[in-house]
Amino acid sequence: MATDDTAATQTPLLISKDFIRDLIDEDNRAGRFGGRVHTRFPPEPNGYLHIGHAKSIHLNYGIARDYGGKFNLRFDDTNPTKEEQEYVDAIMQDVRWLGADWEDRLFFASDYFDQLYEWAVQLIKAGKAYVCDLSADEIREYRGTLTEPGRESPYRNRSVEENLDLFERMRRGEFPDGSRTLRAKIDMASGNLNMRDPVLYRILRATHHRTGDKWCIYPMYDWAHGQSDSIEGITHSICTLEFEDHRPLYDWCLDALGIYHPRQIEFARLNLTYTVLSKRKLIDLVKRGIVRGWDDPRMPTICGLRRRGYTPEAIREFCNRIGVAKANSTVDYGLLEACVRDDLNKRAQRVMVVLKPLKVVIENWPAGKVEWVDADNNPEDPSAGTRKVPFSGELYIEQDDYREDAPKGWFRLGPGREVRLKHGYYITCREAIKDAAGNVIGLRCVYDPESASGVTPDGRKVQGTLHWVSAAHAVDAEVRLYEQLFSKPNPDDTPAGQDYTANLNPNSLTVLTGCKAEPSLADLSPNPQYKDGIHRFQFMRQGYFCLDPDSTPDRLVFNRTVTLKDTWAKVEKGTKRA
Ligand code: ATP
Ligand code: MG
Repeated sequence: MATDDTAATQTPLLISKDFIRDLIDEDNRAGRFGGRVHTRFPPEPNGYLHIGHAKSIHLNYGIARDYGGKFNLRFDDTNPTKEEQEYVDAIMQDVRWLGADWEDRLFFASDYFDQLYEWAVQLIKAGKAYVCDLSADEIREYRGTLTEPGRESPYRNRSVEENLDLFERMRRGEFPDGSRTLRAKIDMASGNLNMRDPVLYRILRATHHRTGDKWCIYPMYDWAHGQSDSIEGITHSICTLEFEDHRPLYDWCLDALGIYHPRQIEFARLNLTYTVLSKRKLIDLVKRGIVRGWDDPRMPTICGLRRRGYTPEAIREFCNRIGVAKANSTVDYGLLEACVRDDLNKRAQRVMVVLKPLKVVIENWPAGKVEWVDADNNPEDPSAGTRKVPFSGELYIEQDDYREDAPKGWFRLGPGREVRLKHGYYITCREAIKDAAGNVIGLRCVYDPESASGVTPDGRKVQGTLHWVSAAHAVDAEVRLYEQLFSKPNPDDTPAGQDYTANLNPNSLTVLTGCKAEPSLADLSPNPQYKDGIHRFQFMRQGYFCLDPDSTPDRLVFNRTVTLKDTWAKVEKGTKRA
């Protein structure tokens, strides 16, 4: 049986190199970092990871792996009001699940707070930073605009001694939150707003998830990020395009301190149709109860995609196919689904589950007899073997597979019609049983004992093949069908005055109860076929599904991972699609 690969055996899949690898090759040729390649993934633990982060992880980890370099996981935890241990734990689990391995290199920017403080003091001593008493609003006002230069803070020319004293007292907690900041002294007339004396430290009394109440001043992202890269010996600091304008500041800080200087390279972030990838909106969806949680299978979070049944292999393949570019664009969600289908088609076990059951009684079946028929687990992979499925005189088929007024070209059941039951026998419908309102509530059929395993001695053609489940052996199941969470390709495309939730798809979740699954599915122990232990299936003719953690032994719960592209043609070659 095919099992998923481990991080160590992942082959470099990139056929053509991207521009980042080209730049790294250039650096290596020039001997810039002594031929070293060291990357990192630097999440802020203020939410769960999503498919966009997967792109960044795959890029950073993939580069380290392909160049025989190193990869760090570093939490950019400089904002204690929004960060939590829950997010740290979830992020680590998700990065691992995606197949990236940071070995023993797990770091936190908060581990560098002492060093960052010392470097700030060094900057003050060099006359390159000052304590400013302007409020946040005033700082914004003084900053100017893209077309107008900023104005210098009245506190800009404080003496080094005064700055050292005030900064030390900021740290000791002598001043209220927000009353003072430490700012870099760069250039209030710079064309780049990030260079107009950016704030390096703010006063904030908040308990940090790792440093507790040790600090009441916290470094800003721009002061922490480059120096963290430097401390860790990162060679290529790969980030998304919105940081391009921060690069001069990144470079300025490292040069002002005279410390080891990595190279920042920007790439375009992933955008997906029908999907929001802003952390703020994802948090909003969870907090407002619009979805059932971070791991709701409709969420583009890694844990949501995992619960939905997506595999890390499919996500990595998606990252390979989209590549890396320097210009922003939006990827069609269908591409991600295609990668999931391709992977599951190769690996997912084929099983039979009836979503909307209709009872079939086979009148000529010997009373009480049960025949365990052989069913192949995956026609795409003979090594997947076979299993036994019980066939008996009372079965369930899909309601949709019977029609009284069968149109031309209908190859399923109808009055007097014959079909093949997959892995079982041919049956012919004799009579429909109806309730008082005339609804069909059951079928009486006969089977052909000569048609075992779909073979008929007289060679007659039976066009349709149905899936089925033995009634006495069936396990009850709930099946959750998903559609896109949003009904517009761009969820932010809303009428004036409405937010993105105006575009929520009211049909994003359909719950089917009373479904009937073949008994082999009542196995809740971890599935050894996949490293994450998740049971993934192709429900014949229905799509790909996975077992949800809400399952109990007598009530299974399944999530539809993705629909089948070509529902029936593949299952029954030479049969017209019904
Ligand atoms: P925010 O900074 O608003 O909290 P973020 O999505 O940038 O949100 P981070 O935790 O800072 O979250 O992201 C970690 C890394 O993942 C960063 O290097 C960032 O550039 C990258 N990243 C985030 N979103 C995407 C995306 N959609 N596509 C590719 N990379 C992304
Ligand atoms: Mg960010």
